[in-house]
Amino acid sequence: MSYVVPPSPTVSLPIVGSPNRFPVHRIYCVGRNYAEHAQEMGYTGREAPFFFLKPTDAIVSIEQGHPGTMPYPPLTKNLHYEVELVVAIGEGGSNIAADDAHKHIYGYAVGFDMTRRDLQTDMKKQGRPWCIGKSFDHSAPTGPILPADQAGDVVSAAIRLSVNGQERQTSTISQLIWNIGEVIEHISAAWTLQPGDLIFTGTPSGVGPVVPGDVMVGSVEGIGSITVSVV
Ligand code: MN
Repeated sequence: MSYVVPPSPTVSLPIVGSPNRFPVHRIYCVGRNYAEHAQEMGYTGREAPFFFLKPTDAIVSIEQGHPGTMPYPPLTKNLHYEVELVVAIGEGGSNIAADDAHKHIYGYAVGFDMTRRDLQTDMKKQGRPWCIGKSFDHSAPTGPILPADQAGDVVSAAIRLSVNGQERQTSTISQLIWNIGEVIEHISAAWTLQPGDLIFTGTPSGVGPVVPGDVMVGSVEGIGSITVSVV
């Protein structure tokens, strides 16, 4: 048997301190999961969690200690950054209780949920899916995965993003409306989580535009930092 077109390569992320890599299965993203960001987008911050997906090949793998680049995407005039804590699933399952969620986590990374905000806003107004605003090529620059046993206390970690050296987003993971365990409980009630799944847990307030030439630095304290230039 052979394939009639070349099969897609496995998308993967580096692992901190290991030559092995994390193969990416699905990319789940949580919408509006920090109260101040929900408010800046015009919502109360008290709604049930909701989700969207990005295609696996939206990943731009940021290798350890190396800055990365992402091309400015087509169709938009308002490309936004969103820095997020990314949870990497090591053990799959469905109907996972929040209290058991930690058993399913392989590790953590820093990722950017890049957004064509003008197109997303258009789709929202029309009650249409967000795909064109969220799920475009190169829309998920993501750094190396730090195994959970080396990650320390993720909950109290600071999360930050700067553009050209100016701080734009700053919060702590403790400000999540739905915490990591609750997010895993909700997602695994709707889909069967698989090893290799990534969960982008949401972004704090302070989102804004970038243009070609801008350099974004995103970090989660104790997890790592990524540098990505828009080209
Ligand atoms: Mn996001």
